Amino acid sequence: MLTKEELLLYIENEKQAILQRGEAFFQCAELGFCELQTAEKITNLLDEWGVSYQKEVALTGVIATIGKGVGYHIGFAADIDALPRKDGNGTIHSCGHSIQTTMALSVLKALSDSGIVEQTDGRVSFFFTPAEEYIDFAYRDGLIEEGKLEFRSGKQNMIALGCFDGVDCVLSAHANGEEEAKFDIGSTLAGFMAKKAVFIGRAAHSGAAPHLGRNTLHGAVLAMNAISFLKDQFAAECGLRLNPVLTEGGGSVNVIPDRTVLETYVRANDNETLFQACQRVDACFEHCAKALELQCFISNTAGYLPLKQSKELNKTVRQNMLLFCKSEEIIENPVSGASGDVGDLSFLLPTIQFGFSGVKGRFHDDSFMVSDYENCYITSAKVVLGAIYDLLTEKSRRVYPQKFQQSKKEYLGRLRTKE
Ligand SMILES: [Zn+2]
Ligand SMILES: [Zn+2]
Repeated sequence: MLTKEELLLYIENEKQAILQRGEAFFQCAELGFCELQTAEKITNLLDEWGVSYQKEVALTGVIATIGKGVGYHIGFAADIDALPRKDGNGTIHSCGHSIQTTMALSVLKALSDSGIVEQTDGRVSFFFTPAEEYIDFAYRDGLIEEGKLEFRSGKQNMIALGCFDGVDCVLSAHANGEEEAKFDIGSTLAGFMAKKAVFIGRAAHSGAAPHLGRNTLHGAVLAMNAISFLKDQFAAECGLRLNPVLTEGGGSVNVIPDRTVLETYVRANDNETLFQACQRVDACFEHCAKALELQCFISNTAGYLPLKQSKELNKTVRQNMLLFCKSEEIIENPVSGASGDVGDLSFLLPTIQFGFSGVKGRFHDDSFMVSDYENCYITSAKVVLGAIYDLLTEKSRRVYPQKFQQSKKEYLGRLRTKE
């Protein structure tokens, strides 16, 4: 069997092709559940490399498996979606998901070309997952109404479709904004719930008879204030984040607004805080509405769960990082207020997501760009490949899901219940 060093050469020797692919995927920025060209690029490569796959999974997802062993089933999840540009001019990979896509393909090709998986008792599946960014609800909810999807995110749908049944662990990676370090490991990701409060009041002439109206904008503004005071009552480590936005305000300036919509995510680092904060935000909506004789209708959509990382898997990943950097170049256990549907996977089975640096500009902004090609595309792929090598060849490193089916039932039960 190849040594790890020999296996890693499969990436080193492909460097130019990998960097070109990275650029091509970065240029191919498509919103969630619209990633048709991205999926086609992926499947074209898989065809060229003779790797079989399933496509159109949760509309635009692709799954490819290397090896047939039943001893241990490793998953690597790569997001493929992009975001709208802030300047309104099309789309951009401003969260760096194209880097993950490229990384997955580099690791997949090295495993496929080397034939190493077939010499072990394991197999490795690559999940190219659509629609990680939690946006574009009108489009996605339309797809749900048409029966083409069940949920708003790629991994949520793939979980419901059974794509992760029988997978023993999931590895993933995400760009981070760090300049001082090469990698981060053990990061939190917050969980969140999406909330929408519709305030209904009474319209009236704002000059002649404002007192006859019941101003819904006032109700929403009052609720926003209550919510901002509420944040004070949670400890910093809970990671509570509340940033409400008015998605519908008033109409004409001479009319007292009679319908205002306030939406917010409730984000928290753990399930307990998330649950509690949701109830208290509801109380802010309801009581502020009541104070001004308005009606308030609240609807909730379950977002993503907090990420709980597997310490055992992270140990293996960290050892592989150390092949390429010093320990002070690895940030340990950072706290992040961001969220991802990889958190949902971590509720079901041992999961990790490490961070890699090498991007600059702001995330979710048009200024985002890849700056360190070596770290993003080459070194990070080697870390993943090295960790997979270890899991395939050393059984003591393997961790398995506990009660997968039971957790999945509980998880889907919660997603399917709308308050
Ligand atoms: Zn993002
Ligand atoms: Zn992202």
